[in-house]
This record gives sequence, C-alpha cells and structure tokens, in this order.
Amino acid sequence: MNLNDLKKQIKINKINIDEDVLEYAYEYAKEAHKGQKRLTKEDYIEHPIRVAQQLIKLGLDQDTIIAGLLHDVPEDTDRTINDIKKEFGEKISFLVNGITKLSKVKYRGMDMFVESLRKMFVAMAEDIRVVFIKFADRLDNLETLYALPPEKQKRIAKETLEIYAPIAARLGIGTLKGSLEDKSFPYVYPDEYKWLMETIKDKREEQKKIVEEYIVKINQLLKENHIKNYEIDGRVKHNYSLYKKLMRPKYNKDINKIYDLVALRIIVNSIEECYLTLGIIHNQWKPMPERFKDYIAQPKPNGYQSLHTVIFTQNKHPIEFQIRTKKMHEIAEYGIAAHFHYKDSNKKNAPKISGDQLAWLKQLKKIQKEIKENDTLLETIKLDIFQNRIFVFTPKGDVMDLPEKATAIDFAYHIHTYLGDHFGGAIVNGKKISEDEPLKSGDVVEIITNKNRKGPDEKWLDIVKTHTAKYKIKSSLNRHKKNTISRLISQEGD
Ligand code: MN
Repeated sequence: MNLNDLKKQIKINKINIDEDVLEYAYEYAKEAHKGQKRLTKEDYIEHPIRVAQQLIKLGLDQDTIIAGLLHDVPEDTDRTINDIKKEFGEKISFLVNGITKLSKVKYRGMDMFVESLRKMFVAMAEDIRVVFIKFADRLDNLETLYALPPEKQKRIAKETLEIYAPIAARLGIGTLKGSLEDKSFPYVYPDEYKWLMETIKDKREEQKKIVEEYIVKINQLLKENHIKNYEIDGRVKHNYSLYKKLMRPKYNKDINKIYDLVALRIIVNSIEECYLTLGIIHNQWKPMPERFKDYIAQPKPNGYQSLHTVIFTQNKHPIEFQIRTKKMHEIAEYGIAAHFHYKDSNKKNAPKISGDQLAWLKQLKKIQKEIKENDTLLETIKLDIFQNRIFVFTPKGDVMDLPEKATAIDFAYHIHTYLGDHFGGAIVNGKKISEDEPLKSGDVVEIITNKNRKGPDEKWLDIVKTHTAKYKIKSSLNRHKKNTISRLISQEGD
C-alpha cells in the first residue's frame, strides 16, 4: 500500500482533504518508521497506512486521517509528540497523544480490565476521534495477529471482544463491531469457532442460494410496484453474533432455528417505502408473526432502525428480510461516525436519530444542529454527549452512565434499591469520600453497605441528582412510614 492507494480511497469516500498535508504526513511517518519491520516482516509503515485507509472508509475527517498515519510515531520512533506538534499543530498532536496514552494500558485481569475501560471512556469524553483511531489500529493489529506469540494473541483478542467491540456497539458502529468480533473470535474461543464453522458450512451456502433466488423475485415485485432507486443485497450474519445467538436458550445450538444466516436487505428512500415494501412482501409470502419486529417505531437503544420480518418461502424455507432507509442504514453501519460524513457536503441530509434512546445518544440531534450552524465545531468536537454525562465504574468494570455531579448515592440506587437503602459510604479510586461529593468520569466506585440501616435518610433527597434515586428514596421512605404506622396501630390493638 502507498500514498496513491490512500488518495484513491479518499476519492471513493468523497473526503475533503488537503493533499499536501496528507503527502507530508505520509512522508513524515515513512521516514520516522524507516528500517522498522512488523512481526509479519513487512515494513512498519504498511500498518499506519492501513489504519489511515480504514479511517477514510469510516468517512472521518482530515485531522483524524492524518493522526492515523502518525499514530505510532511517538511511541515507536525517536520523534516525540512535541515534534509532531511543531510539524502538524495542536489538534493533530492532541489526537496522536490520545492514542499513545490509550496504548499504555495492557489488559491483564480484572484491575486492568477496569483500567482499560476507564481510559477508553475518558479518551472518548475528550475527543471521540481518538477512539476511532484506536478501533482502526486494533482492526489492523487483529489482521496480523497470527504473527504474535499465542499468549499475546489471546490477550489482545480477548480485550477486543470484551472492551472494544461493546464500545463500538454502543456507539452504533455496526461495521466495526462485527469485524472486531469476528477477527477476535477464533483466538479467544478456538474450539467454539471450529464447531460453528462445521455447523454452518453447508447451511450457509444453501441459504445464500435461496437468497439469490429471492433477490430476483423481489426486484420484479418492487418494479411492479413502482419503487425506485432501492438497493438490495444478501447480508451474511457475522460469525460471533451468530455464535452468541445459537448459545441462547431459545435456539439451543440448533442451526435450523436460525433464519437470518443470510438475510435479505432492502434499502429504500423513505419510511413510507419501508412499510410499503413490507406490505408487498407480506402480500406475496406468509410471514411468521412472532418474528416481525418494527425497529422503526421502536428503535434499539443504540439507535438502530429497521423492519425485520421472516417469511416462509415456497419450499417452506424461512428467510429474513431487513427493510430500512438509506439514512437508517448509515446509522446502523457507522453510528456516531456517520456524523463526520456530512462535514462539508450536504449537511441537510445528515441522518437523524430519534426515538427512545440513551440520553447521550439523543443529544446527537443537538450536536447535528450545532454542526449545521458552525463549521469549525467539528474540528474541536468534544461530543457534548459526554459533557453532561459521566461514566463511572463498579469494581468489576460495569459502566454506569450518570448525569454530571451525580453522587455515590445515585450510583448505589442505580445498581440496586437495596444497595441505595443500605448505603453506608463509598470508596472512590481507593479513597473514602463524603456522601455529597460529586463523582467524576472514570471513577471506580465501591459502595459500603450498612446492614443495620433501616432505610434512606431524608436529607439524601437534597444530595442526589438522578430521578431514579429520588424516586426510590421517596418510595422507601413512604414504605417505611406506612410500616411504622401499621406497627403502631397493631400494637395499639394488642
Ligand atoms: Mn498501531
């Protein structure tokens, strides 16, 4: 791979970029890594080029792509982050530095797991583009993982499955989540992977053929019904998500219960056309009612929207259809990254996120509006999503998404009412804190319980910041009052 390949990719993805800067960064990285080899024996520079290419494919902006080219320079060469700052400026050196900081955490055991997650979320809150670069970096490292010693292979693959892929999923970047998982799967669960491949080998081929047949039929039907400019293809389900599905009790490892090994995906122009297409399909073939899902009316928490339906084909072989608009498709594939596509061209068409979603995802709407009004915002985007929210961790690494200034009592009630009602103090990052002290993003919070406590303290109502905590405190207090009264009454009666 070389500079020309990058330029080609930039054309394909219609990215606005200053070619002089790109060329300069390319030469700079090449010179810095000169003489270095990857464990695969190829020249080191191949790796940052592929990382940059991936970032272009995700449709990210110039600074991110340049930072992708330079991402291993401070760590692996004698050029420092200050050199990068001098040559490429503050913004790019900030991104490169973010990556360098992230790579300092190695994943070993639970403590490191929490630490690793913590760093990811903190980086995300500072500038989400750092995390995109990290994803691209990891994706390429997985590609060449075979060259590493087995122990390292497993550590990196496991970290990807447990930390990177879930974050990609949460950010709604379906393409990344799927490839991160599928590349890690064989290293983390080699036997399970082998089993899956054996199990689906014939089945997948069989289903591919059926889907191809149906593509022809659907084409005809849509034409007859005057639906234009649609796209249709067969999407093959990712291995790891298929494996996890098979493991669910409902499927019980039975491949014959899986109808979306290969699904038929139809991308149309409007929501009306989605339902229209659904009607056309249901009119032609018998649907399985319990398999119909309207994720347009009720989007998944990460913003995913589509109509899913399973129909019986003539030979009784069920297949799944997924129907969505182009915008929904972009959101499904690129999630938050989709917003970078619209920097210069066509901002009006930027995908909108709607429905009941996580609070921070909802705020994307607000950001989009700001992007429309302010061209420079993207360059310093500190996704506001994260500005009113903090991410704190349980000692086991579960992430809690809370509003700013939330306290340990909020945290306790978010985990469990019992934990809140018996709150006896909190240890944050190893130190005891007072109950009204606000938590910060990245804090690891351990709740101390007081089993003798009869219930919440009324003054907590002035301390907590979340509705959940307030509501739970009030209902516990009420219950407590009622109990006391009824106890008094029954004592009187005695
Ligand atoms: Mn790298």
